[in-house]
Amino acid sequence: MKRVCAVGAGLSGAVIARELAERGYKVLVIDERQHIAGNCHTERDAETGVMIHRYGPHIFHTADERVWSYVNRFGEMMPYVNRVKATVNGKVYSLPVNLHTINQFFGTHMAPAEARAFIEARARMDIEDPQSFEEQALRFVGEELYNAFFRGYTRKQWGVEPSQLPASILKRLPLRFNYDDNYFNHPYQGMPKHGYTQIVAAILDHANIELRLGCAYEDVGESFAHVFYSGPLDRFFRYDLGRLGYRTLDFEEIRGHGDMLGTAVMNYPDEDVPFTRISEHKHFSPWEAQNFAETVCFREYSRACGAGDIPYYPVRLLDDKKMLAQYEERARMQTGVTFVGRLGTYQYLDMDVTIGLALDVAAGFQAARS
Ligand SMILES: Cc1cc2nc3c(=O)[nH]c(=O)nc-3n(C[C@H](O)[C@H](O)[C@H](O)COP(=O)(O)OP(=O)(O)OC[C@H]3O[C@@H](n4cnc5c(N)ncnc54)[C@H](O)[C@@H]3O)c2cc1C
Repeated sequence: MKRVCAVGAGLSGAVIARELAERGYKVLVIDERQHIAGNCHTERDAETGVMIHRYGPHIFHTADERVWSYVNRFGEMMPYVNRVKATVNGKVYSLPVNLHTINQFFGTHMAPAEARAFIEARARMDIEDPQSFEEQALRFVGEELYNAFFRGYTRKQWGVEPSQLPASILKRLPLRFNYDDNYFNHPYQGMPKHGYTQIVAAILDHANIELRLGCAYEDVGESFAHVFYSGPLDRFFRYDLGRLGYRTLDFEEIRGHGDMLGTAVMNYPDEDVPFTRISEHKHFSPWEAQNFAETVCFREYSRACGAGDIPYYPVRLLDDKKMLAQYEERARMQTGVTFVGRLGTYQYLDMDVTIGLALDVAAGFQAARS
């Protein structure tokens, strides 16, 4: 029987490959990059020894027990709580906006119920059915907090007016009326002791899997029983209908001594600061951070993704959605190929969601064949 192919050695390709390998399929995994783990790739910085998240900070968090036990099967997860700070107009605040942030920002010492009433009095209650990100934010947090923490960051991150973005981006009430500054609400959160790349290497370590790096799908002559494609959807169709919009990121490296930020992530929502955040990667591994005398940080800049850039965040504005529907139709007509992952489905997917979907795709494929 012909083997199957997983295009991309990120979490999507690796998990599907492993699941099918364990069910007896021979799998070829290819990636055009020279490394595995896709955008979750981590590596030790040659100068400092710090574990670097090459394509931006990745924190693992989930409510899905199946996925949590899956990652723990392949690597050791260390306790980690994501706490983010923000520098706004020369002052440092705690995120997500919580009681500490509110009291600092307004110079108050309110208790939870007082703060709730205080914010409700400032919220734009006249906006009954928020349509845009801006309306949603104004409706829930009011003008001052919106302008300080949401407006500038959103404009820099997405390159469009918040009034053009859908309200769904701010799904939940982005305020906490207590002092909880854990960025995520999920019950499981952690950081892999030896990095994400080690986990993906362990997933790919199976006798039925062949890994080929530095190889683009377009250059593979072999035919396969089935292809699981985690590359960009529009690229598969040679951009016939145009390019789906993405944001890309530029990372500016800053090296220094000791501790530069004192935390892992500092956001910069102010519009006159050109970058969105700075991350200091030794703090993503708190169990070993004190071992490194030197440090490395990255300033993160967001901009429109051009032809030669790495696609990071799908934009999904109206025009993209129209084009996406057409590409999806083409994808449905394509036999022998399943489009998976963040690029293959043109969606922002957290790592846990990616793994869960990959497990489902592999199980569905097997079920259809048996
Ligand atoms: C800046 C940023 C921060 C993030 N932070 C978090 C976080 O904190 N927590 C979290 O849970 N998730 C986070 N994510 C999401 C996480 O990166 C994704 O869930 C994950 O990368 C999805 O894996 P994937 O395998 O689908 O895609 P990818 O990791 O992108 O892997 C796809 C692979 O396919 C390869 N490829 C593409 N086309 C071809 C081709 N034609 N031929 C050969 N190879 C090809 C690429 O080189 C790539 O290696 C973040 C994402 C971004 C952009």
